[in-house]
Amino acid sequence: MAFNRPDQFKKLDAPFDLCIIGGGASGAGVALDAALRGYRVLLIEKGDFASQTSSKSTKLVHGGVRYLEQAVKKLDWQQFKMVYKALHERKVLLQNAPFLAHPLALLTPCYSWFDRIYYRIGMWMYDRIAGHTNLEPSRGLSQSQMRQVCPNLSLHHVRGGVMYTDGQLDDARYALAILQSAEAAGACILNYAELNSFVHSPKSLKIKEVCWTDLLSGQTFQIPVKSVVNATGPFTDHVRALANPKLKPRMKVSRGAHIVLSADFWPGETALLIPKTDDGRVIFVIPWREYVLVGTTDEPDKLVESPEILSDEIDYLLDYFNRYSTKKAFRNDVSATFVGQRPLLQAALDSAMSTDTKSLVRDHEVEVDGRSKLVSIMGGKWTTYRVMAADTLDELEREVLNRAPTPCRTQDHTLMGGEENEKSRFMSEAKSLPADIQAHLWSTYGSRAFALLALDLTRLHEALPYVAGELAYLKTHEMATCWDDVLMRRWGISLRNTRLAGEIRANKKEAFAS
Ligand SMILES: Cc1cc2nc3c(=O)[nH]c(=O)nc-3n(C[C@H](O)[C@H](O)[C@H](O)COP(=O)(O)OP(=O)(O)OC[C@H]3O[C@@H](n4cnc5c(N)ncnc54)[C@H](O)[C@@H]3O)c2cc1C
Repeated sequence: MAFNRPDQFKKLDAPFDLCIIGGGASGAGVALDAALRGYRVLLIEKGDFASQTSSKSTKLVHGGVRYLEQAVKKLDWQQFKMVYKALHERKVLLQNAPFLAHPLALLTPCYSWFDRIYYRIGMWMYDRIAGHTNLEPSRGLSQSQMRQVCPNLSLHHVRGGVMYTDGQLDDARYALAILQSAEAAGACILNYAELNSFVHSPKSLKIKEVCWTDLLSGQTFQIPVKSVVNATGPFTDHVRALANPKLKPRMKVSRGAHIVLSADFWPGETALLIPKTDDGRVIFVIPWREYVLVGTTDEPDKLVESPEILSDEIDYLLDYFNRYSTKKAFRNDVSATFVGQRPLLQAALDSAMSTDTKSLVRDHEVEVDGRSKLVSIMGGKWTTYRVMAADTLDELEREVLNRAPTPCRTQDHTLMGGEENEKSRFMSEAKSLPADIQAHLWSTYGSRAFALLALDLTRLHEALPYVAGELAYLKTHEMATCWDDVLMRRWGISLRNTRLAGEIRANKKEAFAS
């Protein structure tokens, strides 16, 4: 079966052990883990895959330097454990799909000798915690070395810097690769399929059926399942309430805004970590293909379907960028913006009145509702999606299926397209193509890119590497159903340059209905 809607609908006749609601990082991770443990899995996602938080992240694969600082300052063991877990997952994430995730060097400027010692010690600890999974040891940099790696960094008052290495991923495509891998392991995966309600067993009140709607045809379905995982990120409380209206809300939503500039504002391959803003945040300036990503903010927010950036947020991010860059950026230099809503877990229910989301721990929790047996995976971050999934499955097996946890098999599972040893063969077979198209095909499809070479390789836009044959392929092999699926998530160009994305859409209107 291919990864398209008609083929996935054919799989619906089979009985399912597990229905997963939500196709972001968390749901995708659970689907793959469960399918590899041998369960019959159905995943329904009400929008496109990763259309909510999981495509709007800062795209870092990291332990979190700021979280380590908080752990040390507050002697917070839980925070420390989270950093440890994330640092160890970092390498696994990079190894399982190298075409979608790679190491990223980050530089922190220091403005006093105290700062320099403080950050050197901090980064030394970061390296030590990562242990044998560390990507590159951190090191101190002189002013002239800083100028080499970040040519546009303003060196006014700078007393040197510290460079360390984390990872960067293509978040939307990473979620897709996990889902495609789950599908290849037997799962039935559907986008534009919204959960509406549950049918409970009259005696035990356990969920026995899921009722959902195919949003593209309007058809409704009622499907028997043995267990249900709620992986709906910021929407978690809504699904918990459908399962058991007595459950108290656990989620707090915080918004994070990003702006995007062209790469000439920040040349080179090294990102900048602005370690402290006036209001106690960190902001990153991150090279991102031919662009640079600046973000993010962290403010309590109301849950909405499509959060939009506020004018103040653009000014705030531009202000910080301009404090550190010799090339100043203005509003009309911003080529795109995007905002994500973090699904943060309230550390304790009594903190429900707290308004500070910056201090909420980014750890996850698996909750099993004793009545409905709904399993909710809450909180967490992209970097730890795989351990979150493993914890969810272990808990589900123990508490809902009443069996001892079976082994998790995702740690060494190469994701769809992740055969890096095929790269040189691909580059040689694609050598007649322009370099940007070659690079685009590999960094988008990985080892599946061979299939694209037989298609129409005419450019869709003179300034961009996307080719005509991809459009049909994205429908039949990546479940794209509309232009937003393609431009925002399969290619990501809408998140980097809205004008160019609009031009492709206008030139090729007929390719998709909307
Ligand atoms: C601004 C920002 C920056 C971040 N940066 C990083 C970073 O650099 N590194 C990192 O590791 N983490 C980062 N994170 C955290 C990370 O992005 C999130 O933890 C992760 O994406 C959450 O994934 P999720 O699957 O739980 O939620 P989501 O991606 O929101 O997925 C939930 C899905 O459930 C679906 N859904 C909801 N209701 C229903 C329903 N009734 N029926 C069917 N489907 C439904 C939604 O449509 C959605 O697609 C960041 C988060 C934000 C907001």
